[in-house]
Parts: sequence; structure tokens; C-alpha cells
Amino acid sequence: MTNITLDWQPKFGNLGETFATVCPPTPLPDPIWVAQNEALRDELGLHKQLFTDESFLLAMAGSTLLDGSKPKASVYSGHQFGVWAGQLGDGRAISLGEIHTRLGIQDIQLKGAGPTPYSRRGDGRAVLRSSIREFLCSEAMFGLGIPTTRALCVTGSPAKVYREELESAAVVARVSPSFVRFGHFEHFASIGNIDAVRLLVHHVVNEHMPSLADQTLDDKQLALALLNETTHRTASLMAHWQAVGFCHGVMNTDNMSILGLTLDYGPFQFLDGFNANHICNHSDGQGRYAYAKQPQIAYWNLFCLAQALMPIIQEQELALQVLETYKSLYPNTYDMRMRTKLGLTDTQANDRALVQDLFSLMDKDRVDYPLFWRRLSHAVCESSKNAHAFDPVRDLFIHRDDMDAWLKRYALRLETCDKNRAGADMLRVNPKFVLRNHLGELAIRQAKTGDYSMVQSLLQVLQTPFDEHPMHEAWAGLAPEWASGIEISCSS
Ligand code: AMP
Ligand code: MG
Repeated sequence: MTNITLDWQPKFGNLGETFATVCPPTPLPDPIWVAQNEALRDELGLHKQLFTDESFLLAMAGSTLLDGSKPKASVYSGHQFGVWAGQLGDGRAISLGEIHTRLGIQDIQLKGAGPTPYSRRGDGRAVLRSSIREFLCSEAMFGLGIPTTRALCVTGSPAKVYREELESAAVVARVSPSFVRFGHFEHFASIGNIDAVRLLVHHVVNEHMPSLADQTLDDKQLALALLNETTHRTASLMAHWQAVGFCHGVMNTDNMSILGLTLDYGPFQFLDGFNANHICNHSDGQGRYAYAKQPQIAYWNLFCLAQALMPIIQEQELALQVLETYKSLYPNTYDMRMRTKLGLTDTQANDRALVQDLFSLMDKDRVDYPLFWRRLSHAVCESSKNAHAFDPVRDLFIHRDDMDAWLKRYALRLETCDKNRAGADMLRVNPKFVLRNHLGELAIRQAKTGDYSMVQSLLQVLQTPFDEHPMHEAWAGLAPEWASGIEISCSS
């Protein structure tokens, strides 16, 4: 038992054994702190002393149970790489339970806390490198304003686990209002337990979608409303990912959040040089989850969700009507995000062409994606007083004449906008810092020697990625040559 008391309020945890199996974590031997997220601790309204409390360290490493916690692993299924994979489930994530916080009800989950009934052939563990990547990226996404699960801390251990080689085990404590996935619905539909699908629909809507819960809807209407809400959220999430240049890498239906959150950080990557066909997952030989395919894959996944809800919705036509809305929701939201990135305060018919032409130029020259947008933002800020303001943008391109022509069109387009406002707005949507692969890699290399300082300082920068952070200028620059050799697979 620990000194920390939390306000446990099980919701998903109360749905019963059909959904989750009681499963205590396996203690991580000799645990140490690797990373702590003080900002999230404060947002949740948790005690300041959390991270100096020895018993909390032990609890986050799965070595002791927090008073009142009822650890559980949940069952789900899913489509992996487009193929039905059958039952999966929390193979290495154990929910300690849901707590009442300043951010509402939040589930605390330990990823890498040992085997569960759903571990199949896995060891239930996670390695230090993947835990640091998940920790940093969830917070980077949050800092960018992109819906995501959060990460409270990482604990490490001298214990070794075997992947391609021996590596250190670690546990990342994730926090989210819900970890319910499309795959939860698919699971119960696939085994014909329609009552369970119905219960899940009610649970998600009642606990997490208050605006829908307030309406008096029958089961069929509720399932449709849920599908509609998740379709909206997923379309919005995809627009965010594409605009910021984020590749998830494993968009299997078991990694899709019903709340439209970025979930399960594995071989993800933020684009360095722009490449629409970029594949960040070394295990994805076919490029199913390549950057440019993500919005289509999300639609395919929503289709799987709709199929799982069909026994309740019953009328296929109604489900299809909802899914159909994705086809305008996604592009419209994406267009809106791109206009914001360009500083355009009004809408014109040719905007999509302007963006598409820019992307083909960037693709041709593999122009660094974050650097382009940040330089463009600064250029717009300075354009009224400096005739050479756009030179640093132009310098990023090999085909300069083509870029000059595009910049001319852009300057003309900006004429209808308030340029003073545009530049300042752009600096608030085009981040200076994203978690480029090589930055994560450098922090991991240091962490492997027992020095966790870069994880912590990178966290701070990524939490406020639109600020200048002059001390960390190097982290905003081009990826070094060796970064292209980093190979991230599903192994974690
Ligand atoms: P992922 O690719 O991480 O989304 O995992 C897919 C499925 O494999 C999920 O059901 C995970 O819980 C499970 N899994 C992944 N790694 C392990 C592991 N080391 N031990 C047990 N289960 C695992
Ligand atoms: Mg997963």
C-alpha cells in the first residue's frame, strides 16, 4: 500500500468480466524513475509530492498496488494490416483503474507491466526505447494541440527483455479518459455478443460524449450517433496528423481510439524531408500505412467499426450515410488546417490547388517539412519590412525557379488577408519543434547510459513547441545524415 490516495471511480472497470479480467501487474525489479511529467501531474490535480514518493514509484512500476486500485486487462480484437486478426487484447497494458481528476475521469494504464491473459506469445513487457518514445510523443502531440492519450511517467529497471537483442525493460504510465478501441466493438460483434456491443455503446456515450447522452435516443439511434461522433473525431484527427506531418505507422483497428485520440505510439514518425509516400514502420513492406494513405485507412477502419455496430444499427443504408460524411469532413477540415498554416484568413476556390502544387514541389525536393512551415511563418511576419524575407524559404528548395513561381502566387493570395495578423497566427500553428526521430534516438541513447536529462528537457520543449526556446536551437534544425538510417519496426 502507498501513501498516495486517489479518488477511484470505476466506469469501464465496472462493466464486468466480459470486458476485462482482473490481472495484477508483475513487479518490475529495482525500479527507478526515467521520466516524470510534472505538467500533467498538475493538470490532473495530483499531489505535488507524487514524484518524490517512493511508494508511487513502486506503484508506477507495477511493484505495489495503489490503495483502491483494481488492475485489469481488457479484451479486444481487430484488423491488422487489413486482415482480421481475431482476439488480441491488452497483452501488456494493465489498467490500474479510473480516477476522478481535474481533467475528469481518467484511466491510468501501465504499459509493459507484465503478462496478462491476452499476452499470447508476448512477454507482457515494453523496452526502454519504446517507452521513452511513447512518453515523449504523447506529450509532443498534446503540445501541438492534437488529441492524444497522455503519459504521466516512465519507470525503468535493470531487468532485461529480449527483442532483436537484450534490452532494458520499462513501464510507461498512460492516462486517458478511455482506452476503448474500434477493436473492442469488433471483438464482441465477432463472437456474436451483441448485448456487450450495446453495453459498450452506452458506456462510451454516457461517460465520454455528454452532448449525445443528454438526448433521448433508442439503441439504434445511439449507435448511429456514436458512429457519427467517432467519424467526426477521426476525420479531425487525420486532418491534424496530415497537417503536422505525423505518420502513425500501425493504423490497425485495435490501435484506433473510439474517442478519436492518437493511441498506441509504436513506429510513428514526424516527417523530416517531405515524402508523401513515406513509410515509417520498417515492418510495413507494402506501405499500407504510408503517410499519404492515412486518411483513407482511417475511413477503412471506420467501416470496420460500422460493421461491428450493424447488429444494433440494423439498417445498412443509415450507417453508410454516416460513413459517407467522412468524404467531405476530412478534406474540408484538412483544407481548413492548411489554410491556417498558410496564414490565409479567408477561403478562395484555388486554395486547394495552391496547397497541392506546394506539396508536389516539396515532394520533388524532399524539403524539410517542419522547417519549411516555420521559415514561411517568419517570412510572412517580416515581409512588410524586408524584401528578402522569403529567401530562407527559397533556400530549402533545389528547383528554385519553380519555388519562386509558387511564392509569387502565394504573395498574391496573401494580399486579400491581414498580413500582420497572418504571420503571428502562423507562428502559433507551425511548430518550431516536433519529435523528430533523431531527437528521440539521441534521448534514448543517453537514457541507455543512465542519463535521463535529455528526455526531461526534450519533454519541456515539446510541451511548448511554438515557443522559440533559443537554448535548444539545434533541436529545430535539419535531421543529421544518420537519421535516415534509423529503422523503427513494430518491435517494442
Ligand atoms: P501493438 O502492435 O503494440 O499495437 O500490439 C498488438 C497486440 O500485441 C496487442 O494486443 C498488444 O497487447 C500485443 N503485444 C505487443 N507486444 C506485446 C508483448 N511484448 N507482450 C504481450 N503482448 C504484446
Ligand atoms: Mg496496440
